[in-house]
Amino acid sequence: MNSTAIQPGPALSAQRVQYRVGHGGFHATIVEDASTKQHLVYVYDVGACPDVALLEDAIDRFVKRLVARGIKRLQYVILSHIDEDHVSRLDHLLGKLGDKKIAVETLALPWLRDTSRLLALNRSPRRGPSTVVYQLLQDDDSVVQFATNLGVENVLFVEGESSDDGGGTDGSDAAPSTPRSHASNATYIPSGTPLKVPTGIPWRMLISHLEPPTQTLMAFDKRVIQVTGLDPADQKNHAKLIKDHRSEIRAAMRFAARKTKLDLRASTVSNWSSQSLYSASLSPFARHVVPHAPDDFEMECEHGWLHTGDLPLDVPDVWDAFETAWNRHLPGVEVCVALAPHHGSVHGHNDGLYVRFNPSVVIFPLGLWRGSRRGKPMFAKWIKPMNALIDVRKHRTIKVRILNNRV
Ligand SMILES: [Zn+2]
Ligand SMILES: [Zn+2]
Repeated sequence: MNSTAIQPGPALSAQRVQYRVGHGGFHATIVEDASTKQHLVYVYDVGACPDVALLEDAIDRFVKRLVARGIKRLQYVILSHIDEDHVSRLDHLLGKLGDKKIAVETLALPWLRDTSRLLALNRSPRRGPSTVVYQLLQDDDSVVQFATNLGVENVLFVEGESSDDGGGTDGSDAAPSTPRSHASNATYIPSGTPLKVPTGIPWRMLISHLEPPTQTLMAFDKRVIQVTGLDPADQKNHAKLIKDHRSEIRAAMRFAARKTKLDLRASTVSNWSSQSLYSASLSPFARHVVPHAPDDFEMECEHGWLHTGDLPLDVPDVWDAFETAWNRHLPGVEVCVALAPHHGSVHGHNDGLYVRFNPSVVIFPLGLWRGSRRGKPMFAKWIKPMNALIDVRKHRTIKVRILNNRV
């Protein structure tokens, strides 16, 4: 054998798993430097809805995996956005890690202004105080307290990038400010800031968090005050607004979108706030075989992965902001694996994503309901993946992988 053909690889390896959880999301990456026995571990989203059995099983398997490898520290739990199907079992994950004495360094979540929190809370009457969603949509101090009680060491709020500044020229129309936390374990970073990773691990992680146009949110605030007499940009009014004015809040958002000429389509401000995550080795080496028929999608891969949460990339304003942001943060970068936005729904689909990032693999993590039509499982409510699937399959070089997500 010709020995020059054998390249000595670096000691780095990365095991990356998109778990099957039904309708929801749970990803984990474990990076290991075999020469130093150092690890970088992170999770992106930990939610499912309404059925959490598959997710809880996946969490248990993930934690066992950490224990088996002697890992004592997890650097990041990143939440794309604050909806049930992305965060609902955060408490379960943190509880299981706590039981095994595995430390959780940082919870990273999108920082939301009060107006956006109200819109997210208002999405469903099920978002009561006993839910993770509710707890993560309170004021920053309460969020930090909630996370700290669950064993998280630090909370990282990622500020949004807005495509406008509200349009006020004399300062009288400045966007209302939402109070920040001064807790010693709370940190705020701008969208696009590289996340710190353990020294010596050549790995890059970058989050982008987009905000809807400030002028639309301000038009919404004004309209809600007009109709209800209560300011939605003040957290103290949220409980009363949700109790007495649920449908007026919805109507006010539609009004504000029309007034500011925003083509919101089926999207919500909550989905719009989805943080996208790019993560990859700084010098990818390992080649890999793409798994064929995955339950969990599991791959040894050091190349770039792009997670997009529930970003409604079908909305032209969102797509423009998304493309602009990534062209600024990581110009020209391509990825190995992209997750189809919004569980693969056509609400979220934009072919530009696949042209821009040129992925080798696109994962459709769409959930399938047990409730079926003539014995056939159905897609989760709202998720209409067929047209998005057909569109992605037109790219001959892309491998499409659909998670076996039957609950
Ligand atoms: Zn979702
Ligand atoms: Zn790869």
